[in-house]
Amino acid sequence: MSIVAQSRKVLGRAWKFALNSVLPASCLLCHNRCEEGMLCAACHDDLPLLGANACPRCAEPGTGGLTCGHCQKQPPHFDRAWAPWRYEHPVDRLIQAFKYQGQLGLAPLFAEGLARQLAPLADQWDAIVPLPLHGERMGERGFNQSLELGKHLGRLLNLPVLSQVCQRTRATTAQAELPIDKRHANVRGAFHCTAALDGQRLLLLDDVLTTGATLSECARTLKLHGARQVDVGVIARTCHH
Ligand SMILES: [Zn+2]
Ligand SMILES: [Zn+2]
Repeated sequence: MSIVAQSRKVLGRAWKFALNSVLPASCLLCHNRCEEGMLCAACHDDLPLLGANACPRCAEPGTGGLTCGHCQKQPPHFDRAWAPWRYEHPVDRLIQAFKYQGQLGLAPLFAEGLARQLAPLADQWDAIVPLPLHGERMGERGFNQSLELGKHLGRLLNLPVLSQVCQRTRATTAQAELPIDKRHANVRGAFHCTAALDGQRLLLLDDVLTTGATLSECARTLKLHGARQVDVGVIARTCHH
């Protein structure tokens, strides 16, 4: 690249940065102007809510608030689960932008969605545990999305965030790449706790709950190390209907 082209590129970047810091942001979804945050009020209000009729154990929607068949047959190792939104358009797009494009500005919006559900229950937990990411993935991505979410949620719920008590010992195949019946085996033994958690009541955080196999395995490990209760909070729940 020529010197001129190079300096044009650098200047272009500086110009963009300067513009971003003086102009109001535009909505990530509709590109209309929005005064604060990443989404305009209209797009925010249109996000697909999970609703109150979910399974209390795994947040599977549409069970009329009853425990779903899957949880009756094979309950997960976590005790309860919450998600503000359904994992469908455009929440899926937002979560992908958050995870894979480093749109960390979405973390406060996601945390606020969870806090609306969880704030009345906040005294039922002693701490938040972000689902750990394996070192390799952390290296690729540069951050752990669950920890970024946890930092904001911890502030909103006034709970400490324990980011060091649990590690991921294996870089497992991404769950999304596996058939559902292989997912439990894939994550078995994938976590390791380095702290005693005697009697702790924990809120385990992740971005999406699909089969819950990874969260269940992490909850099992936390309980093996003394946690008395492990509940789950995610940004979005996949819906099988
Ligand atoms: Zn919008
Ligand atoms: Zn369930």
